[in-house]
Amino acid sequence: MSDSRQTVILGTGCAGLTAAIYAARANLRPLVIEGHEPGGQLSLTTMVENFPGFPEGIQGPELIENMRKQAVRFGAEFRMGHVSHADLRQNPFTLRLGPEEIRTETLIIASGASARWLGLESEQALIGHGVSSCATCDGFFFSGKEIAVIGGGDSAMEEALFLTRFASRVTIIHRREQFRASHIMLERAKNHPKISFLTNMAVEDVMDVEKKEVTALKLRHVMTDEVTVFPASAMFLGIGHVPNAAMFGDQLDRDAEGYLRTRDYVFTRVAGVFACGDVQDRRYRQAITAAGTGCMAALEVEKFLELRGH
Ligand code: NAP
Repeated sequence: MSDSRQTVILGTGCAGLTAAIYAARANLRPLVIEGHEPGGQLSLTTMVENFPGFPEGIQGPELIENMRKQAVRFGAEFRMGHVSHADLRQNPFTLRLGPEEIRTETLIIASGASARWLGLESEQALIGHGVSSCATCDGFFFSGKEIAVIGGGDSAMEEALFLTRFASRVTIIHRREQFRASHIMLERAKNHPKISFLTNMAVEDVMDVEKKEVTALKLRHVMTDEVTVFPASAMFLGIGHVPNAAMFGDQLDRDAEGYLRTRDYVFTRVAGVFACGDVQDRRYRQAITAAGTGCMAALEVEKFLELRGH
């Protein structure tokens, strides 16, 4: 089965949906491919307080749902699936989506970034059994329990604050003394009666794989090397994200951390392929900046197609 398009958008987070709204309004009838994490990171968050236009804040999933409705209203078409292979060597580009082959003259990559894991064997074995990277998805299961949150950025603070709704106590465990989190988020966490901090601690192991549940974390003090066992019923990761760009291999330029390299905001090295949002933004990584570059990508697609005589 094969499908031919003027433009395909990969990803349905803030960047992809904004690109979809603009491309659909320009009558390009974009095909928007929704991968493993529909709605992107905003759909896993709670209150978004800094997206302009919502003085009281708005829930992340609601913001995403609104954007999606807006894109559908102008004619964007959505399809679920995972692009397993992309051939960008000649135009039209080819994408493999399950058994289907999609050909497209332009491509907007808005595939975002997924949660980073520590990479411990025990951590991977206990995902879904007390190890999680999504407080809003899994926090509920740990009512009245001791929860550990790993990380020192805004994500960790946000997760910890959210988890206080359920947990008897939340401990933020960070590998350094200094925090990356913004002042306002860090202060909120520090002032919360249910939250405490452990700094200069690295997680060495998650126990207990045999019991198929989290009972404790083995922590190593990074300066003294002293190892302690910290009892907890769950471990939530808030240690940042990894860009989803591996499927393009060396057809596009990536930096050392895997982010797609772009020039003039959204241009990749391949004419007709644009990237926006967290897959190419290692610096700002905000909902509003993702929306901004999503808009830019769609406008560049319009120009590109116009020059090709559409
Ligand atoms: P981040 O700012 O990059 O912070 C990641 C944290 O995880 C850092 O403290 C880092 O430690 C730690 N870390 C990374 N790898 C680790 C490892 N292998 N083991 C242990 N610790 C590790 O990421 P983020 O918190 O996800 O935030 C990303 C962006 O989104 C930021 O711009 C943030 O402002 C924004 N954001 C905003 C909000 C909000 O405003 N409500 C909420 C969430 C995110 P080191 O400090 O030692 O490197």
